[in-house]
Amino acid sequence: MANEERNLEIEKKISNIRFTKLFINGEFTDSISGKTFETVDPRTEETIAKVAEGDKEDIDLAVKAARKAFDHGSWPRLPGCERGKIMNKFADLIEENLEELATLEALDAGKVYSFEIAVDIPGIAKEVRYFAGAADKIHGRSLKLSSVFQGYTLLEPIGVVGLIIPWNFPSAMFTLKCAPALAAGCTMVVKPAEQAPLSALYLAHLAKVAGIPNGVINVVTGFGHTAGAAVASHMDIDCVSFTGSTEVGRLVMQAAATSNLKSVSLELGGKSPLMIFDDSNIEQAADLALFGSLANKGEICVCTSRVLIQEGIYDEVVKSIVEKAKKWVVGDPFDPATCQGPQVDRKQFERVLSYIDHGKREGASLLFGGKRCGEKGYYITPTIFENVTDDMIIAKEEIFGPVIGLMKFKTIEEAITKANKTSYGLAAGIVTNDLNIANRVSRSVRAGMIWINCYHNFDAGCPIGGYKLSGFGGMDHGMEALEKYLQTKAVVTPIYNSPWL
Ligand code: NAD
Repeated sequence: MANEERNLEIEKKISNIRFTKLFINGEFTDSISGKTFETVDPRTEETIAKVAEGDKEDIDLAVKAARKAFDHGSWPRLPGCERGKIMNKFADLIEENLEELATLEALDAGKVYSFEIAVDIPGIAKEVRYFAGAADKIHGRSLKLSSVFQGYTLLEPIGVVGLIIPWNFPSAMFTLKCAPALAAGCTMVVKPAEQAPLSALYLAHLAKVAGIPNGVINVVTGFGHTAGAAVASHMDIDCVSFTGSTEVGRLVMQAAATSNLKSVSLELGGKSPLMIFDDSNIEQAADLALFGSLANKGEICVCTSRVLIQEGIYDEVVKSIVEKAKKWVVGDPFDPATCQGPQVDRKQFERVLSYIDHGKREGASLLFGGKRCGEKGYYITPTIFENVTDDMIIAKEEIFGPVIGLMKFKTIEEAITKANKTSYGLAAGIVTNDLNIANRVSRSVRAGMIWINCYHNFDAGCPIGGYKLSGFGGMDHGMEALEKYLQTKAVVTPIYNSPWL
């Protein structure tokens, strides 16, 4: 499709955006204050839509709706298989609305449309199906107790949950949190990120069409320090599951501690290493380094912003990474040739550019990129630094942009030491054909997810969670994700006249 034709098509889609209001108790509604905020297209820096700005009072209404649905509604009381059936319908609708969701993600968050169509949106449908299948497999244990008693545990939904999500994968984060909470039988208030709120509202609409009862999913769009803070400190929310920065994670935990001691799960930032060993295939290693750090324009909590390369193949791998970076197309996320779209907003764009300046000032050698791309939109060239040392800001802090820091190492011990030299512990990658290296390094690196000869291979069935400043309090994905939305109750009863006592 020619550019002009495509732009007309996109204009039409923007004018057709339907859901911009809060979603409370199954209805789209204005915020109590009547205030709105603008959500901006990072390709053009122009406003896409005005979205209702929820605040504390709106969170109160949403919590009331969720509480009523939990205490008196059908959802927590349905047999698991019935919840699963409705969730599968929700997944069907996600698949049927693939293009609409992919368009919202590209417009609102600058995500590559073709990737959304092929990977992200089908992935969120799979996530919902995975937990639809889990809904009738939530069982406690039977307990043989020491005296004339027996017991069992019940796994009950924890109650009303607050789900605070970031902007880098707006749809995926929505289902990552909602799907296990729905399977567990919880009701919820979702606070999407203010930078990219549109797909959450669209998903709420699909959930309603699928038959998820009113009040089970509520979505309050708004800012973090108002609506988000109101979720974290709410006295009638039983659990908060937060994904975002470490800095805000601390605030969420403080708010939970000083309100009703709700349980807290934090999925936070990262500074993940990719370790490339001498025996690696050069092409594969360079591909993984590039994909690991530039996918989703580096706006991924697990991205490999530190690439450690063993000295024997260092020069060859670096040459190949730079060659490949030259072919990495930055541009309009709707263009099928594009590998990387714009950063999500001006703040993030300026933040990444300021890290690039730090890298230059601190003496890292810029091999490629290092500047904005074009005149309009938040585009940044893939940026590759070498001679990066552990003490540099770009080696220590999460950049959340398309910036790769290359470092050389000699021995396996040195790779492990460097990999662990971070206050984060979310993920790590290993490239090697030597099983002994793979085994040893994967057990020595303190991170919640290790990819060997692959990267960013997320799966609904594979749990992920952080070590150290990357978070705690439960995993996302996998059956483990259910745990934070469940409460264990023990029931004990005496047994009389048993021959086995
Ligand atoms: P952020 O912490 O600024 O915001 C995340 C969410 O928290 C948003 O919805 C925001 O409105 C809300 N928020 C902000 N202030 C708040 C407050 N005081 N109280 C309650 N809520 C508040 O993060 P971001 O910039 O949206 O996302 C980027 C960060 O998220 C990065 O650090 C990234 O590593 C992290 N992240 C982690 C994972 C993971 O699985 N570990 C996944 C994706 C992103």
